[in-house]
Amino acid sequence: MALCRCLQKHSPPNGRKHNYPGYVKPLGFPKSAVLCGRCGAQGVVWLDDDEVNLYRKGQRIFSGPNAFAKIKVDDNGVIIPNNQQGDKNANT
Ligand SMILES: [Zn+2]
Repeated sequence: MALCRCLQKHSPPNGRKHNYPGYVKPLGFPKSAVLCGRCGAQGVVWLDDDEVNLYRKGQRIFSGPNAFAKIKVDDNGVIIPNNQQGDKNANT
């Protein structure tokens, strides 16, 4: 499930249950209403492996760990910070 974290201090999230290979930006970033779950700074939306695949299939709405809200993200692609394998789809 997606997590919202700021890029300055709390990225990438160190999830114990989930791997978060990349992030997307919420609609309206950097003036979106989506804030880091830890510190309240402007946040991006980290996606787990399944969600990255869903994003690439066209899904743009993701949920966090509870039913408080869903987040709509933009069309600018998944950003994979440490893309050592040279995945040609990394930033699409
Ligand atoms: Zn933060």
